[in-house]
Parts: sequence; C-alpha cells; structure tokens
Amino acid sequence: MNSDAPIYHVESAHGVHIKLQDGRELIDGMSSWWCAIHGYNHPEMNAALTQQLDRMSHIMFGGLTHSPAIELTELLVELTPSLLQKVFFSDSGSVAVEVAMKVAIQYWQAKGQAERQNFVSLRRGYHGDTIGAMSVSDPETGMHTIFGDALQKNHFVEQPGCRFGGSSNAEDLLGLENTFRNNQNIAALILEPIVQATGGMWFYSAEYLQQARILCDKFDVLLIADEIATGFARTGKLFACNHADISPDIMCLGKTLTGGYLTLAATLTTNEVADTIDSGEPGVFMHGPTFMANPMACTAAATSIKLLLESPWKENIRRIENELRHGLEPCQEFESVKEVRVLGAIGVIELTQEVAMTSITKDFVGSGVWVRPFGRLVYLMPPYIMDNDTLKTLTTAVVSVIERHFFD
Ligand SMILES: *Cc1c(COP(=O)(O)O)cnc(C)c1O
Repeated sequence: MNSDAPIYHVESAHGVHIKLQDGRELIDGMSSWWCAIHGYNHPEMNAALTQQLDRMSHIMFGGLTHSPAIELTELLVELTPSLLQKVFFSDSGSVAVEVAMKVAIQYWQAKGQAERQNFVSLRRGYHGDTIGAMSVSDPETGMHTIFGDALQKNHFVEQPGCRFGGSSNAEDLLGLENTFRNNQNIAALILEPIVQATGGMWFYSAEYLQQARILCDKFDVLLIADEIATGFARTGKLFACNHADISPDIMCLGKTLTGGYLTLAATLTTNEVADTIDSGEPGVFMHGPTFMANPMACTAAATSIKLLLESPWKENIRRIENELRHGLEPCQEFESVKEVRVLGAIGVIELTQEVAMTSITKDFVGSGVWVRPFGRLVYLMPPYIMDNDTLKTLTTAVVSVIERHFFD
C-alpha cells in the first residue's frame, strides 16, 4: 500500500454510517470487509452481547460447553446443505480454511490413503493469508512470489470463464477433469462457490459448480466450499452453494458469520467425514484453538443469523440488487469502464486500468462515502439494512467519482 495513502480516524459507527473524528459521516459501502450485514450498533445485537458479557465473556471449550455454542451449532447445521452435520469453531476465515485442509488430510489418512495430501483450486481464487490457505490461493495475485518456496505445491485449474446465469463450458471442466485424472494424491478441491471475491469479484456459472461436484464424486475427491465471503445471503441465496443445489463435503464460514461484530469462523463437515476421522488414528481431529467457540462471538453469530432469518432477506437482497444495478448502470457508458456486474448485494465496476488509491480514496471520502477499491475494481458490498435513498446516494457518488477520476 502507498505510504502516502490517507488513513481516517473513526470515532463511531451507527447503522450504515461511519463517523470520523473530524465530524464527517460516510455511507459505508464495504460493510467492514463485507461482514457488517445489519450495520453498526444494532440494538438487538448490542443487547444480546451485553447480556452475554454479564454471564461470561469467555470459557475454555475443552470438556466444557455453553448455550451460545450449542444454539449456533444447531442453527448452522439446520441452515447449511443437509449433509453438513458437524461444526468446528475457530477464530478467523484463514484458520477455518486450514482446518478444512487438515480435515481432508486426516480423512484420507484414516482411510489408509495417507499419500493424499495435495489440493486442487481455481486460479484467481482466494482462501486466506496463512501458509496453508496461501498455498491454495491464486499463485499470481496471491503471495506466491514472496512465500512460494514455503508453500506446498498444489494444483491450479483455470478460472471458470463461464458467467453466472449462463451454462458451463466444456473446456473449463476438461481442465478440472484432467487435473483429477493426472494426479493421484489429491485430497480435495477447494473453491469459492459462484463468487471469486478477492481474486477479482468474478461471478461464474452455477452449472460449473454442479459439474465440479460431479467430478469430485467421480474421482473420489472431497469438495471444500469456501463460503467465507458468500455465506448468509450476500449472493441472494443463503449460501452460494444453493445456487447449484449442491452439498460440499466441507464448508468454511467466516466474515458475515457474526454480523461483523467479532471474529469467528466455522468449518462444517459431513457425518461421513467426521466419523471416518474418529475411526482412524489418533481418533480425534488434531486442532484446538485456545479461543474456540468464544461465547461472545457465538452469541453475536446466533443473534445475527436469527435477525437475518426474521427479516424478508430474499426480497431485501433483490431490492439491493436492483438498486445497485440501476445506480451503477451509468458507468457502463464510460470509456474507462470495462464492465458493470451485479449479483445479490454485490455491485462491481471493472475498470480498464488500475485506480490511483490515494486520490480516489480522498475523492470518495470527500463525497461522503466509504469505498475501498482494489486493482481495477471498484465495488460495493453494502450492509443489508441500507435503504433505497441511501443506496442511491452511494451509487451516485461512486459513479461521479469514477467519472471525475478518469476524465479530469
Ligand atoms: C476473507 C476470506 C478468507 C480469509 O478470512 P480471514 O478472516 O481474513 O482470515 C478466506 N476465504 C475467503 C473466500 C475470504 O473472502
């Protein structure tokens, strides 16, 4: 990041607004890295957390359990695809991915196929910043040039070229099939279902995901769905896997899980995978985070999920989708814009060239909005509670900043 890039001091945040120390208020277009779906300082979230704080902020999760963890586990098992029955809690998305990879390795170990320790992933994918997660993230946009020698050599297949809403193309799937066929020691395929977020905000065909599931079954490879960015309705379905009606063997949840209040992640798996691990040596999954299932974080998550389910979330996401589509449409005319694409509560403007972060950030803040572009992408992931007028103000500001930024 540029050393001259401005950093703004936040005093507080309320609803969909971020209040800076200098008194300015910004409309939040980022939901704090896509997490704060109910906005900030939500009265019910605050009340639930205050109550839990009075009971206990933390307790170890070895040999002990508590209601927030039990309630959250039940919610996750009920809401995720039906085959996912077991839940493992950890602290962050990257750790949930590490856990998923270790689950896959221990599964094959218990099945007497200890050599299966490699992974397949999609180019332009992103799965986190820890060593294991980096090794399955895109080798070019990821950090392989710096850390490459420290990372396991995994297999990458081309980013699916087929768009969301369209059918899959044979070429994309052939690449995946050949990778499975030509490599023996594959433990799992890991992918972000439907939306490759950090790697370029790309929306791909649900049919590709269906076919990938079929290929995993055919070649007896586990499927890990990293729903850390897509989970909890961001794409218009509760989980992106629902667009393809598939059930992965392992699913990672994070980011939105606590409504952006606290850090928590979950790795879910099937009874078959969990029972197989328990039947092997050492008969237990080998991972145990200190702050596993932190009661405050579990309370935030359970409360956030109930708030979402009590809301008319399907219609609401469709409303946001329409507003983003109409609001960002004028950009389509700009020569500097390659494409505008919208899915659920995600609006993306792909530019023909990289933005100048320092000047565009100042311009956004000057226009009263908080937007954090990367590379050639300016995108919005607003909190789900943003009303139409505020969405209009936000998209209008974004359109005029982009116009100024490239025509001045
Ligand atoms: C953000 C993200 C992660 C990493 O989560 P952290 O909480 O930042 O460790 C992993 N996978 C996907 C798809 C993500 O968007």
